[in-house]
Amino acid sequence: MLVRIHGAISNCYLLLGDRPVLVDTGAPGDLKRILSALKANGVRPKDLAVILLTHGHGSQAGCAAELRRRSGAKIVVHQGDAELVRNGENGVLAPTSSLARIIRPFVDEPFEAFEPDVLFRDGFSLEPYGAKGQVLATPGHTLGSASVILGAGEAIIGDVLRGSMLLPNKAREHFFCNDQELNTRSIVRLAREGLMRCYPGNFGSFSGSELHRFLATSTGEVMELSSEPV
Ligand SMILES: [Zn+2]
Repeated sequence: MLVRIHGAISNCYLLLGDRPVLVDTGAPGDLKRILSALKANGVRPKDLAVILLTHGHGSQAGCAAELRRRSGAKIVVHQGDAELVRNGENGVLAPTSSLARIIRPFVDEPFEAFEPDVLFRDGFSLEPYGAKGQVLATPGHTLGSASVILGAGEAIIGDVLRGSMLLPNKAREHFFCNDQELNTRSIVRLAREGLMRCYPGNFGSFSGSELHRFLATSTGEVMELSSEPV
């Protein structure tokens, strides 16, 4: 089972399998929200099997260091984002729209730096930690962005795309993307997973068919990419 935890500016997800797994840790200041969501689901911090970050931005890694102290759980992140979390800074945050340019100063805050316990490159399995999930590298938003493919066709996709601020079940380009071409390849890769539901780092979830609709309507280049091996 997947539980969405609403942070101040982003989502975290609690996976309730044989052992609980926390995917992302909110922005600095989200600690209370996360601890109360754990409690509401009968999970003590010490029960967490592992803390996985979809990427190294402060809205995902903001409470990671403190949650590790409280839980003893290892922090797993893709090696491409290791420097971000070691520095406790977002690094380059390339806006994709004029709205993104306006909100950047409000979301680009430093967070507590930490040394990750586990760095992975291509993929990572959550099965040894008691959760049915495979982590795929889906770079573009950041170099080390990753998505978690769960059973039953669900996926936690970090900031590969976001949900809509207003409408349910809509996929939108994220506010920030450091490498658009790489990100498009990652969306294509996700589309090939036959997903039923995508859970983004911002706003609400959307269906697998909405992911395909986003791909089909974004650019012609995307359609060409979709026929290439990724
Ligand atoms: Zn991000």
